[in-house]
Amino acid sequence: MSNTRTVLITAGALIDGTGAGPQQPGAVLIEGDRIVCVGRTIDAAGDVPRVEVPTGTITPGLIDCHVHLSDAGLADASAQDRDPSGLRVLRMAEHARRTLLAGFTTVRDVGGRAHLEFALRRAAQEGLIRTPRLVLAGKIVSMTTAGASSWAGMYRQADGVREVVKAVREQAAAGADVIKIMATGAVLAPGHERPTSAQFTSEELRAAVETAHALGLRVAAHAHGIVGIARAVEAGVDTIEHGTHLHEDPGVAREMAARGVFLVPTLKALARIADGPGVPEDMRAKAHERQSDRDRTFRMALELGVPIAMGTDAATPFNRHGENAEELELMVSLGMSPVAAIAASSGMGARAIARDDVGILAPGKLADIVVWRGMPHEDIRALQRAPRGVFLGGEQVV
Ligand SMILES: [Zn+2]
Repeated sequence: MSNTRTVLITAGALIDGTGAGPQQPGAVLIEGDRIVCVGRTIDAAGDVPRVEVPTGTITPGLIDCHVHLSDAGLADASAQDRDPSGLRVLRMAEHARRTLLAGFTTVRDVGGRAHLEFALRRAAQEGLIRTPRLVLAGKIVSMTTAGASSWAGMYRQADGVREVVKAVREQAAAGADVIKIMATGAVLAPGHERPTSAQFTSEELRAAVETAHALGLRVAAHAHGIVGIARAVEAGVDTIEHGTHLHEDPGVAREMAARGVFLVPTLKALARIADGPGVPEDMRAKAHERQSDRDRTFRMALELGVPIAMGTDAATPFNRHGENAEELELMVSLGMSPVAAIAASSGMGARAIARDDVGILAPGKLADIVVWRGMPHEDIRALQRAPRGVFLGGEQVV
């Protein structure tokens, strides 16, 4: 707020994050931490500092709705399970830095480790380190499972309505913005845990949603199998993470579209787990089996108008922080337009996480802005190159 610097950014193109096509050329004027004007050209006094990239493209700072900053993306995360928390938090800070420098100015972390992510956010607020804006879930609320037991400090296991309510309130008390719940089994869990099996009962899911919403928190449900997806949607969750087998029941997809429940497809996660050398064989097999389900679901969601927000699941094997933009290439390969993929990673992402101060380029929004080399609406891989400029709340960090 004390920063009242004015900067004019101009480029060959501008994509505003609403899903509208590119403006060519494009310009944004920022003052302090806010955007004051967006257009094809902007008249500004001659002495206003300028960032001019005639061959580049301006977009909103991108949003990744599904990351785990705590973990590095190793083939087998259990290799770091016994690391001291000091080392873990340093890693987390570096993962956050790489993500920001790659043009992602907001991330939603849907499962940290031992609440260290709240210390990370505090350090960023104190100005000790730079991170993207952090929307945090704290620990994942799950029924007692093998999967939950195998990720030290990431889960809060709870069985029955009373325990679930308490577990949700614990995350809220720690500072969570969103509650992450497990509606089905997981891929990255011991072999006998099946991603298609439903976990929490409808009663437990409803209790989690009611408790979270009463506290003003959103709810993100991890769900692969259709029974768990259907239960979670019925219980009133805000986002379905993965959603792999959604294609098995178009009625549930239509319900998501009607209620505005977002799908966060995390295409990259399954792809990298299935291909990854050194990934435990039982997990690889589970990922491999459901890649065609993932693709069918994505295409069906597009067709039926299910709102889609981009999420990578960064931290799963070979899904590294700072390489988040690879997800958009996969979304485009399955039929989404580049401009829509950018909207899923900006304006739609902001809606999915209920942040109306970021995500689109419009007067009054926070000046989270990226200037890319090249034209991502022509080749989405332009987003995988190091950006020419990254602004976080009006401050140029690249
Ligand atoms: Zn995840």
